[in-house]
Amino acid sequence: MPISLPLLHDQHDAYEKKEKCGLFGIWGTPEAAQVTYQGIFAQQHRGQESAGIVTSDGVTLHGHAGMGLVGQVFTPRIMKEELPGHAAIGHVRYSTTGSSKLCNAQPLLREYLMGPVAVAHNGNLINAQLLRRDYEQHGHIFQSTTDTEIIVHLLAKPTHVGKHDPLPHVLRHLQGAYSLLFLFPNRIEAARDPYGIRPLSIGRMPEGQWVVASETCAFDAVGAAYERDVEPGEIVRIDDHGVHSRRFAAAEEHGARCVFEHVYFSNPASNVFGQNVHLAREEMGRQLARESRVDADCVIPMPDSGRSAALGFAKESGIPFEEGIVPNRFVGRTFILPDQAARDRAVSLKLNIITELVRGKRLIVVDDSVVRGTTTRSKMRALRSAGAKEIHLRVSCPPIRHPCFYGVDFATAEQLIAHNRTEDQIRQFIEVDSLAYLSLDGLLACMKTPTKDCCTACWSGHYKVPIDQASSKFGVEREQLKMF
Ligand code: SF4
Repeated sequence: MPISLPLLHDQHDAYEKKEKCGLFGIWGTPEAAQVTYQGIFAQQHRGQESAGIVTSDGVTLHGHAGMGLVGQVFTPRIMKEELPGHAAIGHVRYSTTGSSKLCNAQPLLREYLMGPVAVAHNGNLINAQLLRRDYEQHGHIFQSTTDTEIIVHLLAKPTHVGKHDPLPHVLRHLQGAYSLLFLFPNRIEAARDPYGIRPLSIGRMPEGQWVVASETCAFDAVGAAYERDVEPGEIVRIDDHGVHSRRFAAAEEHGARCVFEHVYFSNPASNVFGQNVHLAREEMGRQLARESRVDADCVIPMPDSGRSAALGFAKESGIPFEEGIVPNRFVGRTFILPDQAARDRAVSLKLNIITELVRGKRLIVVDDSVVRGTTTRSKMRALRSAGAKEIHLRVSCPPIRHPCFYGVDFATAEQLIAHNRTEDQIRQFIEVDSLAYLSLDGLLACMKTPTKDCCTACWSGHYKVPIDQASSKFGVEREQLKMF
């Protein structure tokens, strides 16, 4: 008798690794909203739950946000009538704190003593619950359940409002991962936490306007050229006078750039932390082949994020590369999957296997990561049903044994297949003939970022930014519920 599981679990099974958010901003063009639309559209892979754009006409701010994909949230009428102005910031979101609902869609647009402000955030604030509880005890009312809203309350704090330049003071209160865009009527401010956990880059349009984005693939989409990254601990102001930099904190001696951006999240065309994502993944595949070679007939990528690593594996091993699995790009994200059998069937909807390439073959399947294991097992079962003789799974990162508190939603430690399990136990669960992961040293050898500046916490358990293990993405909401 199949066991019914709650919908949330099923959604997680289908989408195990979720980034929190992509940002885009531009200053100085009457086309600001349209360019921003393109900028967040190009970063849709960083968040599919909600999308929003806020524009400035120099006097006030105008915003629109909604649930769903960028193309669903913005209609031609909204773009034409609701978003006037010469500057804009935009956001695509997946929730890592606060649930998936409209009040949490960003940019958050608020009015305080100094006028309107919009905030867009990529990352996760470790101390948000603590700060929020403190503010609520002093009578503050929050309109959302995201960690991001605390930033607006800090901005509106009377001791900050009175300061000539309050933003550095505000940011010094924040702990955790944050790449931020602020839009005021007269300027954009872009900031990155002192560890530089999430990416944030500055580019320039051919006509000279400045743009800022989480990923450089957004610059390609709007015709901008990459200029440089916002440095960890830096605030970059963009206004009619150009770009101005100031620091709110020294960069930490040891940074914590998220290595998972290269393993899975970022677009292969993007350059993240100064390194092209596709080439980094290809090198991971080469390293994986050096570490765990096995005789086989072909190398098959698990679409889409396993492709670059599979290519590297095939080149290094000399074993032919075959596109044995074709993804169905039109499968939506909200399956109701009541049991494992239904989830196994859903894999056939999401992935079409080319039986002629698989039947009777010894396959090396390359995937970017294994999180809960159930989705991977469904994929392996589908390959087995298609007639695969042997399946050797090669994973282009080490076993994920620890949750991420810096803006990526995997699961709790208990839900991770590699937590407290040996590789052979995982292999048996996934039902493959052999299983090998890329070693952590091997992974770090593929990164241009010096090892001392890399975050590896989900693999190593070494959290460079101190975390509260009890906190979770719904922590703020649980705090609220406790009060009633
Ligand atoms: S814990 Fe993992 S996913 Fe989270 S920031 Fe560090 S490397 Fe990235």
